[in-house]
Order: sequence, then structure tokens, then C-alpha cells
Amino acid sequence: MSDKITRHILLLSGGKDSTALAIYMRDNHPEIEMEYVFCDTHKELPEIYEYLARIESYLGKRITKLSSEEGDRGFDHFLSIYRGYLPSPQMRWCTRQLKIEPFEKHVANDPVSLYVGIRADENREGFISTKPNITPLYPFKEAGITKDDVFRILQDSGVDLPKYYEWRSRSGCYFCFFQRKIEWVGLIEKHPDLFEIAKSYEKPEEGYTWIQGESLDDISRPDRVEEIKSQYAKRKLQLAAKRKPRTLAEIFSGEFSEEEDGTGCLICHL
Ligand code: SF4
Repeated sequence: MSDKITRHILLLSGGKDSTALAIYMRDNHPEIEMEYVFCDTHKELPEIYEYLARIESYLGKRITKLSSEEGDRGFDHFLSIYRGYLPSPQMRWCTRQLKIEPFEKHVANDPVSLYVGIRADENREGFISTKPNITPLYPFKEAGITKDDVFRILQDSGVDLPKYYEWRSRSGCYFCFFQRKIEWVGLIEKHPDLFEIAKSYEKPEEGYTWIQGESLDDISRPDRVEEIKSQYAKRKLQLAAKRKPRTLAEIFSGEFSEEEDGTGCLICHL
């Protein structure tokens, strides 16, 4: 292993932090021959592919898209292996099967420096892989880059935010169980076809639903949609009353990224 040349890899999730890191590394460390990689679950939002194209055009480099569907081993294949048991925050089999394993297969035993976009103002540590040949590096932490800086990097580069930020705070699959109820409502309104597909995976009578204790059928009832919207509007007002002055991050990101809560998977949501 020691005779091999170290590969420098930056994993893009389609989210703002990994994107800002890609821009930051290209602009500040052009000497590093970086590989940009995206693990495609084939359950992504269309906005993600549009954003990746925008990032590629800024970087002037192709993003390698690792497909989880190679050899027909995509989400549906694993769902049948897990006997219809939908992934959940407690049982994130999707992250391992659709994101981490394709990535580990891609790097094999090569020594890798893996650039991770955790910011200096975040309290989380994170490993995407625990393989000994993969060394995580945290350039934003080292350089003291905060959320405001990330927005500045995205704005100055012209890459900006992905379009889904208008209604959702995280990258990842359209049916991701980490999304909040207001984001499910966003999916109903922005991508009703994808919402219907997400719904088709549920088996409420067996307790298999994306949201604990509530099916997507329930959540899409007009009265329930109105209730979720009104609860969200109230919460927004309460938050706005507490927050002064507004930060750059809040001004440029719209309402949804204000509520990042640090949960989620590093490989899917950075
Ligand atoms: S985005 Fe969500 S559903 Fe998709 S692989 Fe990641 S954790 Fe699983």
C-alpha cells in the first residue's frame, strides 16, 4: 500500500457544504489532483443532477458518478433483501449499501485522502468510511470556515445553492426518512410523481412507513397538509422573533437551511 500514490477524493452529496468545499479546494489548492465523486442512488431529486452539472461546469472537471445500480443492486434489490423493511434513522441500511459500499469499492485498497466538508462551526466529527487506507481530512475545520463563509463561497463562485433549497434543507434521496413533514409536503407540491413512488414503498398495515406512526397517504390529506403548513408557519415566526440580526447564511439560503439539526448521514447530506 505504501508504494501507491495517494488519491485525493472529494465526495459530493449535492448539498451546499461539500459543494463549497469542492470550490474552495479548486480555488485554493489547484496543485491537488482532486477526484470528485458522487454516489448515485438513482432515487435522487432531479434538482441534484442539475446542480451537479452546474458544479462540473465551475470545476471544469467531470464528477465521477458511482452507480448503486451496477449489476442491478440498487435500492429495490436491497429492499427485497431486507424483506420490505424501509430504512430509518435507526436502521440506515441504504447509506451503507447505496453510498458507502460503492465508494469503498471504487477506492479499493488505494491510499486515499478524503476531503470532508464539516465546517468549523459544527460540533460533529465524522467518518464516511473506517477503512484504514482512507484518511479523512477536514479543510473547513482547519481553516475556520463557517456556514456564513460557505454561503459566501457559493455566491461568489456563481454556483449558488441547489434549487431544492427553496423547499427542503437536505440533499439525498427524494424519500429520505430524515426529511421533515413540511419537506414531505414540499415533495407533494414540487414532485407529485416522486411522492407517489415514495408512497408505493410503504406498507402501513405492516408498520412500514417512511415517517414513524404516519403514512404518506395520511400526510397528503388536504386537511393534514394545511395543518403541517400552519404549524410550520408558526414555528418560523417564533424562530424569526428570536433571531436578530439575520446572518448572511439566513439571508441567502432562504428559510429551509435555517433549521439544520446536525442529524443525517455525512455521505448523503453534506
Ligand atoms: S439520502 Fe436518506 S434515504 Fe438516501 S441513502 Fe441517504 S440516508 Fe438513505
